[in-house]
Amino acid sequence: MSTALNLINVSLEYPDGSSTLKALDAVSLSVNRGEFLSLVGPSGSGKSSLLAVAATLVKPTAGLVIINGQDVSALSEAERTSLRRDNVGVIFQQPNLLPALTAVEQLLIREHLRGKRIRAEREKAMELLDVVGLSGSAHKRPHQMSGGQRQRANIARALMGKPAVLLVDEPTAALDHERSESIVRLLRQVTDEFHTATVMVTHDTEFLPLTDSVATMRDGRISRALVPSAQPN
Ligand code: ADP
Ligand code: MG
Repeated sequence: MSTALNLINVSLEYPDGSSTLKALDAVSLSVNRGEFLSLVGPSGSGKSSLLAVAATLVKPTAGLVIINGQDVSALSEAERTSLRRDNVGVIFQQPNLLPALTAVEQLLIREHLRGKRIRAEREKAMELLDVVGLSGSAHKRPHQMSGGQRQRANIARALMGKPAVLLVDEPTAALDHERSESIVRLLRQVTDEFHTATVMVTHDTEFLPLTDSVATMRDGRISRALVPSAQPN
């Protein structure tokens, strides 16, 4: 099985008055393609920091971040941007869709900026909207969609670059129970279908059985366990 995301002894420190705050304290974690990992832990324990480092958006103070076999610290800024673009999908709690664009345009804007041929990309975007259950809403703008639909559009957008790694920060925090469950089920489905190494920060412990494993953060440190009801892999 191939490891898409590998963190080795990663630490991240922030200045905190006269001392430093360890947001991440020697965190090691590897996630394989097709694996769906839940990341839980109290507020302030470092979950979002871990995602930011894994997304190559923040450089760790120490340790290695390896994405699809590439050591991120060895890369230039431009190389890191392109590694991120080609390998990492990020989904935050707030979908951050552009108000003026339709669902399908949300998916195409980035490809458009990359100068890709839009016709093939448009087909891919429509297929992804179908996967996330939005085929009937391709031409709706964010204000015409429900919160759940906006999060689905957000997920489809994150999949446009065919990422090996999918990083998801509290995707259901703004949704009711039923919509939350369907979003987590959708993330399970896309993990299986696109073989992403998916890391989801969540507070909804009842959805943990839909994932393969659980890592818990506390004061910047991580510990990991299999979900009891899940098949070991
Ligand atoms: P979580 O997502 O688990 O709530 P975070 O990763 O957001 O935790 O934060 C971990 C710790 O790092 C917290 O103490 C937080 O205050 C601190 N922190 C996060 N981002 C910054 C930042 N940009 N500057 C300074 N401290 C930060
Ligand atoms: Mg957070």
